[in-house]
Amino acid sequence: MAEPVILVTGATGYIAAHTCVCLLERGCKVIGIDNLSNSSPRVIERIQQITRRSIDFHRIDIRNQTALTAVLKHYRIDAVIHFAGLKAVGESVSEPLKYFDNNVCGTVTLLRLLQQYGIRKLVFSSSATVYGEPAAVPVGEAAPTSATNPYGRSKLMVEQMLQDIVRADNSWRIATLRYFNPVGAHDSGLIGEDPRDIPNNLMPYIAQVAIGRRPYLQLFGDDYPTEDGSGVRDYIHVMDLARGHLAALDRLSAHDGSFTVNLGTGRGVSVLQAVAAFERVSGKVIPVQRTARRAGDVATCYASVHRASELLGWHAEHDLEKMCADHWRWQCNNPEGY
Ligand code: NAD
Ligand code: UDP
Repeated sequence: MAEPVILVTGATGYIAAHTCVCLLERGCKVIGIDNLSNSSPRVIERIQQITRRSIDFHRIDIRNQTALTAVLKHYRIDAVIHFAGLKAVGESVSEPLKYFDNNVCGTVTLLRLLQQYGIRKLVFSSSATVYGEPAAVPVGEAAPTSATNPYGRSKLMVEQMLQDIVRADNSWRIATLRYFNPVGAHDSGLIGEDPRDIPNNLMPYIAQVAIGRRPYLQLFGDDYPTEDGSGVRDYIHVMDLARGHLAALDRLSAHDGSFTVNLGTGRGVSVLQAVAAFERVSGKVIPVQRTARRAGDVATCYASVHRASELLGWHAEHDLEKMCADHWRWQCNNPEGY
């Protein structure tokens, strides 16, 4: 049987790079597209170094219909994993149109062309942010959705658009994956998260403190109704997340229909617990400065993982120590990023 051909949008991004490694190791042919707005072309070399397989990369913006059409005409694509998007919450508040244009209009362009070229299998990168402030944890897929910022709204809008598309034409098979908090890196230390500016997210910030690029971590709020007062999240190793995409593709190949599924570990970890784990693994002290809560943050959010287990036969395997150890190796090997 011919190797499956998978188009990966946003291919040089953090989560996509790790997923490309899994796809190549599985024997898929990978066509990667990215406009490099938030990533480095070096990622492609690194993926190829890890897997000793090649990836067809095109520097393309998903909103560029002509360029995208050329790619869709050139390959016999079996399925698409759609990672491309902007993800900085703060920036989305100050520049909402940029987010709606990129994340929503970009996805419309992509979907229209997929429809035109008869490609009906899609995996979409959504986020736990669509749960807003969850009324109860662990949060299941049927929980109410809401958005507190334009980034979250762009994810929700795409999710709703995908539901409408499936309703109108049930030949679509769409997996909407709601990621919790991806962290860690491939254990080669060759690929990992490489924030361009000051990191917004906890783990890359801690790693930059540990390596000496920043003096201390600001703890955003120590008065949440949690065990130690700091915010609780569901951190998931990026390689577990990457495997989740393969499980989703397998499900789409084997069954009709579409689904929405959480990808998390099902366990909540506080900021202070994450700091302590990183200190243990790195042997470094992470100074912490307690500051006010960050606007829009929720106290506690972690996933119900039953549906992922039932539908995909998937569950996260790596623990917090491994997440920190792999993140730290990547940071040490690449102190300034790629
Ligand atoms: P990332 O920024 O590392 O990767 C996204 C990639 O998409 C980047 O390489 C960027 O250059 C590319 N891109 C952006 N707009 C594009 C466009 N118009 N055309 C082509 N390429 C474009 O981010 P990531 O953390 O790997 O996230 C991947 C996806 O997962 C995003 O859709 C994000 O919203 C979603 N997500 C991420 C997280 C997280 O915490 N990292 C959590 C939930 C969901
Ligand atoms: N956080 C923090 N300092 C930082 C970055 C994050 O205290 O510099 C906290 C944040 O308030 C939240 C947790 O770490 O409780 C995870 O934040 P992140 O931005 O990584 O994920 P999200 O809040 O989007 O789930």
